[in-house]
Amino acid sequence: MTIVSSFLEFNKQFVEQKQYEEYLTDKYPDKKIAILTCMDTRLVELLPKALNLRNGDAKIIKNAGAILTQPFGSAMRSILIAIYEMGAQEVLVIGHTNCGMTNLDTGKMVDKFRAGGISDAVLSTLENSGIRMERFLRGFNSPEEGVAHSVKIIRNHPLIPAHVPVHGFIMDAETGALEMIIDGYENV
Ligand SMILES: [Zn+2]
Repeated sequence: MTIVSSFLEFNKQFVEQKQYEEYLTDKYPDKKIAILTCMDTRLVELLPKALNLRNGDAKIIKNAGAILTQPFGSAMRSILIAIYEMGAQEVLVIGHTNCGMTNLDTGKMVDKFRAGGISDAVLSTLENSGIRMERFLRGFNSPEEGVAHSVKIIRNHPLIPAHVPVHGFIMDAETGALEMIIDGYENV
């Protein structure tokens, strides 16, 4: 059985047994928040449980490291849509302890591209068209630095309303303990 076929099998039963019924809600976040957080596997269930978030409560945007690299990239677009189209009133950036994006070795990752069959020709074509792998792949020196950077980009974004608080947090990836490192109420 492949990975996907086991999902498909489970899914069929899930729908047939109407297990979805307890999750029925709409697309507007009941708790009026958008969260930018990390795709880390440890946070999949832990983060919503630790924040008492249920289906329908929040818009959750995830990527590697909760990093907002581009002011006009997809993560920022998602935050703007959450605010203007879905009714989110506050933004929470939640990094976490032991994040895999801490001191990511971009050189080693490029070596892994090669080991995975990506040719030097492809890598140099990208290089020649202005893609700087170190910049493209880079994480941060600490999760706190990553969160502060993302909060700064969101807070200073020309399309973010001045009254929207943008908070920064670090979550303990084991206990779910949340530490506020930037209080967004201070900057509205
Ligand atoms: Zn992470």
